[in-house]
Amino acid sequence: MSYLLPTYANFPLTAVRGEGVRLWDDAGDSYLDFCAGIATCSIGHCHPKLSQAISTQASTLMHCSNLYQIPQQKELARTLVEDFVKTPGKIFFGNSGAEANDGMIKAARRYGHAKPDQDGKARYEVITFNLSFHGRTLGSMAATGQQKVQEGFAPLLPGFRHVPFNDLDALREAINDSTVGIMLEPIQGEGGVNVATADFLKGIAELCAENDLLLMLDEIQCGIGRTGTDMGWQSICPELKPDTISWAKGLGGGFPIGAFYVSDRVIDADGTELSSLMSAGSHGSTYGGNPLACAAALAVLEEIQSAELTGNVQQREQQIRTAITSWEHPVITEIRGKGLLLGFGLNSEALDVPEGATPAAYLCTKLMANKLLTVPAGPETLRWLPPLNVTEAEVSEALEILKNTLDSLAIC
Ligand SMILES: *Cc1c(COP(=O)(O)O)cnc(C)c1O
Repeated sequence: MSYLLPTYANFPLTAVRGEGVRLWDDAGDSYLDFCAGIATCSIGHCHPKLSQAISTQASTLMHCSNLYQIPQQKELARTLVEDFVKTPGKIFFGNSGAEANDGMIKAARRYGHAKPDQDGKARYEVITFNLSFHGRTLGSMAATGQQKVQEGFAPLLPGFRHVPFNDLDALREAINDSTVGIMLEPIQGEGGVNVATADFLKGIAELCAENDLLLMLDEIQCGIGRTGTDMGWQSICPELKPDTISWAKGLGGGFPIGAFYVSDRVIDADGTELSSLMSAGSHGSTYGGNPLACAAALAVLEEIQSAELTGNVQQREQQIRTAITSWEHPVITEIRGKGLLLGFGLNSEALDVPEGATPAAYLCTKLMANKLLTVPAGPETLRWLPPLNVTEAEVSEALEILKNTLDSLAIC
């Protein structure tokens, strides 16, 4: 008898301990963790610097209301803006990805009020993309371009329109008088590890400039070093200047935190900065940006910078791509993604998938039996998201498990 709502279709594994890329279950078996809490344990399980930062802060001051000054929050915001985004802006801290996206959408609504259409009506519509995933709150769910996420929750929050990803013509056609922003994951995670092309990102930036729209990036999965660059979009189109950005997952390294950025870009002749629209009283969160969460995220960012983890991410990506390409395996059709956000397209014809399972979920189950944790991205993509500090030897070990498992399952 379980008292948990049955919202998760989860695997029968009970994790009790983690260290680096290893996870142990309640039977004492160890796994190589290439799921990493779905791109969340960015510097591995229980990294000593992260555990230390949390325990020091926990025994000093855990929580303090945003009614008062929080130095850890200021320092974290400074690091994110100066070292990672590298374009002036301001940050708001929350506790999760969906919440960060809701805040970002609120910022877009404010912009729509500040810069209404020619009839003086506030603009409010945000265009997002098919197969996107933005979260489970009422706002982020409505933004998400997947029916299965929205099933049975109508009426949805109005103000979203979905168009095909990487299709600039469809996007141009969808823009109308009430459009206020274009929101996307530069690399769609849950939707199958689909990478936006550089031309698509450049085209979006042009459409935003022509139509006075906000360019809104959801970097919750692809940000913070994951793609081998500080920010996900920088691995595709480094010159892009987003107006708003959301983060969560890897930012806290396993400690809950979310955040969104709003650029200081001047939006009118009076010199009004975009970030100023989120004025006092416009948004808030009791837990958001408390000293404990910010100390954890600061330790994560500090480790990503000092250990130069983006360089490791690039090398491990090459290692994985080189090995898998050389196999020419009948089950793997292609490798998509950037850095250590990688998706392997699966050929369902070459696998004997049991009734009711998807090729990706079936393969994940088999890999788990062989002590490698991975995660599906849609029905036909296997996703690898190991910690950013995964070593060459650990990647070799995972590659060997993948190869052996695929060989044992392939039917042609
Ligand atoms: C996970 C994810 C979210 C939602 O984050 P939560 O912390 O689960 O609310 C939003 N967008 C993207 C791209 C994600 O990968």
